[in-house]
Amino acid sequence: MIRVLSYAATLPKPGPRPAPPVRMELANGVLGGTQEALRTASAGRREALVLWAGRPVGGGALITHVIAPEFDSGYDYLDVTGAVRAEVAAVLRRERLLVFADLHTHPHQAFLSVADQISPYSTLTGFHAIVIPDFATGAPGVGWRLYTYTGSVWKEQDCVRCISSWPC
Ligand SMILES: [Zn+2]
Repeated sequence: MIRVLSYAATLPKPGPRPAPPVRMELANGVLGGTQEALRTASAGRREALVLWAGRPVGGGALITHVIAPEFDSGYDYLDVTGAVRAEVAAVLRRERLLVFADLHTHPHQAFLSVADQISPYSTLTGFHAIVIPDFATGAPGVGWRLYTYTGSVWKEQDCVRCISSWPC
């Protein structure tokens, strides 16, 4: 099962994936909605994950959708089955959206763990993986850490460089 949260009444035209580095602009409500979805799903005791999807605009991406796929998780692990990933891909095709980032929670500190690096949600070059500390119980964006796949490794970058109007 997948929950799709939409934050834009109108969308830019569909188009091809922009070349990296992909700077993301967030539609109103995406940041707070993401933190809330992750806090609720984590429930103070398990990792949780959502995806940021949208459409290309001005050489970057406008994030208009938060996609919450079903997952198996515990205090320090999370897995999305192949069947659910296929369902996500079908939603993206149907809605003509591209996914630009995955976001997942950790119990305490935010960092990209060895497990996160071994089995990321995506290994598209330019894809962003964002880790949220304290099971997303903090204020939206606070303590988030962002990593970008270069094609061979995950490189940490400042959120402010990769996300327009970053509040933190
Ligand atoms: Zn992790």
